[in-house]
Amino acid sequence: MDLAELEDILKDEKSFRKKQVMHAIFHELIGDWGEATALSKDIREKLKAKCSLDINAELFESADKNTAKALITLKDGKKIETVLMLHTGNRSTVCISSQVGCPVGCLFCATGKMGFYRNLTVYEILEQLLFFARYLKNKGDRKITNVVFMGMGEPFLNYDNALSAIKIINDGQCFNIGSRKISVSTSGIIEGIKRFSEEDLQVNLSISLHAPSNALRSQIMPINKQYGIGEILSAVDDYINKTSRKVMYEYVMLKDINDTVECAEGLVKLFKKRPLVMLNLIIYNPTGNFEPSSRETVKQFKELLEKNGLFVTQRYEFGQAINAACGQLASRDGKNSA
Ligand code: SAH
Ligand code: SF4
Repeated sequence: MDLAELEDILKDEKSFRKKQVMHAIFHELIGDWGEATALSKDIREKLKAKCSLDINAELFESADKNTAKALITLKDGKKIETVLMLHTGNRSTVCISSQVGCPVGCLFCATGKMGFYRNLTVYEILEQLLFFARYLKNKGDRKITNVVFMGMGEPFLNYDNALSAIKIINDGQCFNIGSRKISVSTSGIIEGIKRFSEEDLQVNLSISLHAPSNALRSQIMPINKQYGIGEILSAVDDYINKTSRKVMYEYVMLKDINDTVECAEGLVKLFKKRPLVMLNLIIYNPTGNFEPSSRETVKQFKELLEKNGLFVTQRYEFGQAINAACGQLASRDGKNSA
């Protein structure tokens, strides 16, 4: 897909034309400009010549068909991954990427290991949703109900484009997905958290914490040297004060690294007096450097937190068999080169 010249083509048109075009692409899910019958023939021809609606993607489906991954090749040949998870009860979540690779370099994350190439444009972010919106439409019965920015990349290092994409995802004339069904996850980019507090959005915020102390967090997330735990927690406290919205702290369970009793006690200290906070324990999807904590350890860790009054959830595991789970996205065909 290539919508880079869309604005230019429509620049002399009345503003409602752009709305019609966006509606045709992201609501009607047209695959060919010929289907955009609300537009004049002249505009359709121009769009057809310069704005391809074809998505170049390779699809991988899990054996149970509940998870699908798309490896999308962008116009410059770079590849990104996006994942669809079909839950029971008609909930369908798409996990989207915000960058090609990621500059944050967390040691447990496959995307972090591949390095950083570039930010995605607004339309490249949306292309991922569009792929699965069309996929579900062809299958017939379901629609995308939830969107999470938990694919490749750090959304708050591509803030403006992520925000513009969120507005189109939420727009009733486009994807029409409720803001409360959209979640953004950040490794703790303070400027992003501060800006996010000022937006008039009901979008969910998740923070990847993964350790209760700066010493440990800096070992597994080098960015912690720049944005430490104290600063993150205080930016999130401000966000909660301003928005009255709950925040989810994510905690990936790494065997013998951050799954000890001392770590659980450290988390209790950090969160005991903080309302509107949830802790989400994530089962680690192995990517080489670490091992996942055992079920028993996770259970005991969770019990200790709950006994001390914290609100704890555990993330559902999805997509490991097709390398489509959190932190596993790395366009592993190896064709992404700088
Ligand atoms: N860059 C953002 C969003 C993308 S990562 C962030 O880090 O928050 C989405 C989530 O997957 C984060 O919580 C991240 O820490 C987690 N994650 C990364 N690698 C993982 C792995 N191998 N197993 C499980 N979760 C992982
Ligand atoms: Fe980047 Fe998030 Fe992976 Fe860290 S966990 S390297 S921030 S994508």
